Amino acid sequence: MKSYILKLPAVEIINRIKGQEISAEEYMIKLFERIEREERKIHAFITLTKDSALSQARIIDRKIKKNEKLGRLCGIGIAVKDNICTDGVRTTCGSRILENFIPPYDATVIERIKSEDGIVIGKTNMDEFAMGSTTEYSYFGPTFNPWDRERVPGGSSGGSAAAIASHEAGLALGADTGGSIRCPSSFCSTVGLKGTYGLVSRYGLISYGNSLEQIGPITKDVKDCALLFSCISGHDSKDSTSLPYPAKDYTKALVDDVKGLKIGVVKEFFGEGTDEVVVKYVWNSIKKLESLGASYDELSLKFLEYALPTYYIIAMSEASSNLARYDGLRYGLRVPNKSYDWNTIFSKNRKLGFGLEVKRRIILGTYALSAGYFQAYYLKAQKIRTLIRREFDQIFKNHDVLICPTMPILPFKLGEKIKDPLEMYMCDIDTVPANLTGMPAISIPCGFYHNLPIGLQIIAQIYREDLLFRVAYTFEQN
Ligand code: GLN
Repeated sequence: MKSYILKLPAVEIINRIKGQEISAEEYMIKLFERIEREERKIHAFITLTKDSALSQARIIDRKIKKNEKLGRLCGIGIAVKDNICTDGVRTTCGSRILENFIPPYDATVIERIKSEDGIVIGKTNMDEFAMGSTTEYSYFGPTFNPWDRERVPGGSSGGSAAAIASHEAGLALGADTGGSIRCPSSFCSTVGLKGTYGLVSRYGLISYGNSLEQIGPITKDVKDCALLFSCISGHDSKDSTSLPYPAKDYTKALVDDVKGLKIGVVKEFFGEGTDEVVVKYVWNSIKKLESLGASYDELSLKFLEYALPTYYIIAMSEASSNLARYDGLRYGLRVPNKSYDWNTIFSKNRKLGFGLEVKRRIILGTYALSAGYFQAYYLKAQKIRTLIRREFDQIFKNHDVLICPTMPILPFKLGEKIKDPLEMYMCDIDTVPANLTGMPAISIPCGFYHNLPIGLQIIAQIYREDLLFRVAYTFEQN
């Protein structure tokens, strides 16, 4: 097998395996050779599952020989963010407190991938509990941007995006609470989709901000993204927030045509602090779509300036509640100590188990929820969330999609923003609105500036992933 095959889109690799041009085993061996070489430079993975991946590949080769029915992800190697539970494979969430946690079950998305003959090749690096935008907050050390190793890959699903960009995986799964799929996709030049809230099951996703987050694909191109999204989405009775809709085949939405579509360009998405280069590239992309038959107009969203603080109050409040379960007694890190006092044991385990950023958020979230401050912070944030949603709904009455930057800035150097948490939070200014409103949003590459990738974000009304795929596909083809 020629090694360039690893660089093909997943759809092409799957077709070659199905067509017996290459065997699943041969592909898997080559893939792991590459992973072993690249990992020294990139550190995209926390855990690799080489043995099970190889035996899975052999099972698939036997299925092919016997002419059995093959799944849509036949033989492809999939990298999975380490906050998605995998049966028998440790799932750390990038945290010391879960360093040795081995889930006894698969998340629904993992079950679905396996039932489509996809192969999990490992668990990818991430900011601890998905709190961050650079993957620097991982207990296991940072991931490096494959385009420039001095720079961050984005986060918190930085490992998944770096694995795709360095061809260490055919497909990847990330999770997005406030941009964690789209940010690293922008910084690593991959395609990343956060779907409509409730369309992909969260069963088996370790919660950070559960009213905001969704699992989604990170891939080499738009077609791969549509394929993986079709496989993982659709109703799941194990997740009470799952929407009552069956899975659709989103690859049908891949049409190279944007004629008649109406694009909204919201000026607040290009506000203060947005790099001029990013502004230029995104505008060029909008003009490109216009030349292909779409039209656009410029708008303003008055509540958008509150999106970032609203997001951080809600996300931290939910985090403080979700992370209360890590007491070190039932699972996770247990620090040896002689005391039988609950407070002592609990504090010792959490003091050593959690990193600085996670602690900061637990403290701030607990504060925002506490009596006397609840009304002033959490409740107010929820009210603003509703206002933002209404404003978006209004715009989508006469626009098909909104287009804006995914990230306001180019990938920056490691260590540059970690000193100042507020500066780090500012990176999420353009991605959090889609989480607050539950609307689907995709990031696709729109060019490079001095070898640094720039991402374009497309947002649509609830359930309109088909429009995202259509616009993204047309842009990519042209
Ligand atoms: N950077 C954002 C945060 O730290 C988003 C993270 C995410 O989507 N998981 O909360």
